[in-house]
Amino acid sequence: MRITFPHMGETYIAAKGFLEDLGLEVVVPPPCDKETLNIGTRYSPAEICLPFKINIGNYIQSIENGADTILITGSCGPCRFGLFWMAQQEILNNLGYDVEIIAFDPPQENVRDFLQKSKKILGYHTPYQIAKAAKNTYRIVREMEAISNRLYKIRPREIEVGSADRYYKNFESEIYHVRGSKAILGLIDTLNNDLDHVDMDLSIKPIKIGIVGEIYTMIEPFINLNLERKLGQLGVEVHRSMTVGHWVETTVMEKLFKMNKEKNIQEAAEPYLKTFIGGHGQECIGHAVQYAEKLYDGVIHLYPFTCMPQIVAKSILPTVIKDYDMPLLTLVVDEMTSEVNYQTRLEAFTDLLKMKDTKMRIG
Ligand code: SF4
Repeated sequence: MRITFPHMGETYIAAKGFLEDLGLEVVVPPPCDKETLNIGTRYSPAEICLPFKINIGNYIQSIENGADTILITGSCGPCRFGLFWMAQQEILNNLGYDVEIIAFDPPQENVRDFLQKSKKILGYHTPYQIAKAAKNTYRIVREMEAISNRLYKIRPREIEVGSADRYYKNFESEIYHVRGSKAILGLIDTLNNDLDHVDMDLSIKPIKIGIVGEIYTMIEPFINLNLERKLGQLGVEVHRSMTVGHWVETTVMEKLFKMNKEKNIQEAAEPYLKTFIGGHGQECIGHAVQYAEKLYDGVIHLYPFTCMPQIVAKSILPTVIKDYDMPLLTLVVDEMTSEVNYQTRLEAFTDLLKMKDTKMRIG
């Protein structure tokens, strides 16, 4: 069995560590690029949302590198994501690929199905081995989140623009050549040491922007055209409302242990949207309210074209920003998105926020 999975930002680092710790053979898809998008667009329905197309591109690139089994998470929520894998399996079969997609729905949805699929992948491992690998994986997830938070603070303050990202790029290229969580954690330590050496101007007080929207689009830098890096280099301290760790906690751990860490987000969204609509639509509203309450300078709403839950959120956000008098920029991405247009809109938005910020400091 040679296992692959779709990209979603830095998720592949933790997934690779987990599966390799259990002795499985992993084929990580090449980083998402124009070729991935072209392949995905060619074989996907035209009107489907961008994550589906990128998934197909990832799968085909991995299959051509030898993968025969695809792992993906499912969902029983209202968003069509839960049905992705069925349509994707059919597309791959029709193209003549002999692969199996194993989709994991959250365990609480169907415990027996979850256990059967887990056994298929992890069959001969003891619960202790699995728990140990899961513990190391969770550590990777948390460490990578801390790296992201460091980058958000460094980028707008670094003396030589792009130096932190150079270290990060090196780190990413090394990940493909190591095996197992121990080696990955070693690379994370090296990256942290490198970031310690980035020269910063700590007197800079950057404007702060919160990013809300569809989880995949927020997390995968190729699909969001490196939004966080672009904003950082425009002198903005970014905060992303959803992370891989947040997803693991809310989709798996929280439901298993009957906790509700999202209660405060749901409460923040409540005056505007009381109902769960899937696709993190309700969370998007709650996060925007929380950024406004924390006095962020602005919010960016990010989602892929045709994303149903985020279209609902888009219709509600103008009321939120009117109530809180907070600037909002909406960015909708698809395979036709022009990087020049995108950059221009970001520059215009951040310039406006900086002018507003300067006026408030003078006034
Ligand atoms: S949340 Fe939106 S973009 Fe994501 S899978 Fe669902 S419809 Fe597609």
